[in-house]
Amino acid sequence: MKFSWKQYDLKLKHTFRISRGARDTAPVIILELEHDGIIGYGEASPSKRYGETPETVVSFFQRINLSRFETPFLIDEVLAYVDSIEQGNTSAKCAIDIALHDWIGKKLGVPLYQLWGLNPKKTAKCSFTIAIDSKEVVEQKVREAEEFPILKVKLGLDNDEEMINTIRKITDKVLYVDANEGWKDKNLALKRIQWLKDQNVEFVEQPMPADQFDDLKWLRDKSDLPLIADESVIRLSEIPKLAQAFDGINIKLMKCTGLREAMRMINTAKALNMKVMMGCMIETAVATSAGAHLSPLLDYADLDGNVLISNDPFDGVRNIRGELKLNTKPGLGVTLH
Ligand SMILES: [Mg+2]
Repeated sequence: MKFSWKQYDLKLKHTFRISRGARDTAPVIILELEHDGIIGYGEASPSKRYGETPETVVSFFQRINLSRFETPFLIDEVLAYVDSIEQGNTSAKCAIDIALHDWIGKKLGVPLYQLWGLNPKKTAKCSFTIAIDSKEVVEQKVREAEEFPILKVKLGLDNDEEMINTIRKITDKVLYVDANEGWKDKNLALKRIQWLKDQNVEFVEQPMPADQFDDLKWLRDKSDLPLIADESVIRLSEIPKLAQAFDGINIKLMKCTGLREAMRMINTAKALNMKVMMGCMIETAVATSAGAHLSPLLDYADLDGNVLISNDPFDGVRNIRGELKLNTKPGLGVTLH
């Protein structure tokens, strides 16, 4: 078993601004894992918020030696070894996890959803993200997103009301709100949430910084809208504590090390009666398809990473009016253009 990698710079269709900053391109690293003449694709989309860059991903890859394993079917042992090399590096670990799953599906000749016994007709409805921007640009983006039944709106700067009012002038469709830790004061956060509840908003994601856990608990007690953890939840072990401050979790493959851990997180959250959402980074159809295969298990899907870019090197899951359409090809079902 061996692997190689290549960096791609994904171009965003629009400047992507959230409460932490803005960008026009996103670097990702595509991994090819080869064994027995079959190639499994994986992807790392590193995020500085979680301490990763393309350089840290590559340096982590250089420390992995998979030749000690006879077959990708030993996926649990391989991933335990990869996880033990060093803490963090979750998107780099995720690339290995996705590639192993793709390889296994291809070797067995079945799509991943079939391997897991999931119904591809029951993929979760997918939201389309509207990032923070001027009135004019938001208006244009909302019109462009007309085919999508649910919008996820980024808030957390000082133009929250303007963002929502601009959208509400155009459409009354369901909105998810994501503040990306932008509201630092609990009273302000509560005021914003109570205003949002009258705007047909379904839930609010990460209203306050992850390190203000007591404020988040206070807020959840008083909030009339469900609160979903994103930056507060990285991996499995954090979930039980978060049940005190959130109604659900947003799992991202790039944060949690991949599909293997994501499945454990879904089961744990459900056992705690929490809602389960899966989100994504800016990423190609490789990682978006990986998430989509798990999506029949989700309450909410925000897997639009590859819809936001203009130069996806891969073809895989299609997003048709917010429906995630998986194909019947084995593994992830992705092909390089
Ligand atoms: Mg989020």
